[in-house]
Amino acid sequence: MRVDLLIKNAAQIATPVTRVPHALPGNNNFMVIENGSVAIRDGVIAAIGETPEVISSLNGEMPRAVIDASNKVILPGFVDCHTHPVFFHTRENEFTMRLMGKSYRQIAETGGGIRSSVRSIRSASKEQIIEAVLPRLDRFVEHGTTTIEAKSGYGLSTDDEIKSLECIQELDTIHPLDLIPTFLGAHEIPDEYRTQRNAYIDLIINDMIPRVAERALAEFCDIYIEQHVFTIDEGRKILTAAKSAGLHLKVHANQLSANGGAALAAEVGAISAEHLDYISPEEIEQLARGNVVPVLLPGAVFYLNSNHYAPAREMLEAKLPVAISTDFNPGSCMTESMPIIMTISCIKMRLLPAEAITAATLNAARAVNRQNTIGSLEIGKQADLVIWDMPAFEHIVYHFGVNLADTVIKKGKIIWQKQRNPVLKLYRKKLKESLQ
Ligand SMILES: [Zn+2]
Repeated sequence: MRVDLLIKNAAQIATPVTRVPHALPGNNNFMVIENGSVAIRDGVIAAIGETPEVISSLNGEMPRAVIDASNKVILPGFVDCHTHPVFFHTRENEFTMRLMGKSYRQIAETGGGIRSSVRSIRSASKEQIIEAVLPRLDRFVEHGTTTIEAKSGYGLSTDDEIKSLECIQELDTIHPLDLIPTFLGAHEIPDEYRTQRNAYIDLIINDMIPRVAERALAEFCDIYIEQHVFTIDEGRKILTAAKSAGLHLKVHANQLSANGGAALAAEVGAISAEHLDYISPEEIEQLARGNVVPVLLPGAVFYLNSNHYAPAREMLEAKLPVAISTDFNPGSCMTESMPIIMTISCIKMRLLPAEAITAATLNAARAVNRQNTIGSLEIGKQADLVIWDMPAFEHIVYHFGVNLADTVIKKGKIIWQKQRNPVLKLYRKKLKESLQ
């Protein structure tokens, strides 16, 4: 068998699976292969299993390249299915204000929050925005993420929303990370429409959505349902218009209050409902009946110093495919790191390590309608995977706050590799020599 890249001898390959045998007890859809190898051809997984099996499947043919993953763990690349990376200025001043006692809502009401990011994105050119976003995309990759969903939503005028979506489109072509675009014109009411919110909703429905859909600038349409932002009725109107324009739907729901957003997501046939910190058992049922993926964002709960986490275990008991994501944004969760979010998910929402990995990979892929191509390591799937410098998969959540990524592979190609510090390398060499 012709193979472009063989990754061999991994201490473990750990992945959720949609098909396949040897699952861990209690984790029917999670598989751990000890001494595992993966063979990649044309950017796709051609063989995966125990090393001797995979080697014999090559029928003596030499792979074009080989990586030895001894003492390391291979996981699928993370799918970060809810991010807001297209902002211009950062908002560290609000971080300090919150530490001094101001709430997220109070900061928003005095012109900070999303509205401050709106003023900033409007002031910037496309080129300036792209330059600001690129290092963020590098950081996603460095921390093991190979696909992100990326929302607009800091433009809030037709031109600035389109500008943001064009940036996402261009970044997707120039950066190896895959970006899946979501139109979030209904993120907030912009200042100039404060006293005429209906006119803004008309603008979204009659101008923004048709133009975004016509140019295929977004795959999803999202909305922020919350007190002081959009109501259920307004949400229904906007999402219905987006659906008839051919966009798939997402809803920011039940983040700061029990606002009925999750029920709306089920009613309009959204692919996912996101946040869900204040969800009722009835709404969990509605999500299950409507096949809506719950995307939980515990990093935002942590960062806003709330203790009201989404009831992840209840959702898992209701057989919902729980996904987790960073919610990367300059206000309520400034991190590109999925592993830190996974650790928070385990400690605060009581996910088990295998459940956190599934939530960050296959279930997150479901939230962006990519479950057939990414999110797990199975024959025929895109070869998006990460080699981690750890002896067992649990270390991804257990050994927290440091980056243990070693090599990131996207579509079968190495796109990032850890640089070893030359000074430490030299020191280790000397140490070894002195011991001989
Ligand atoms: Zn969000």
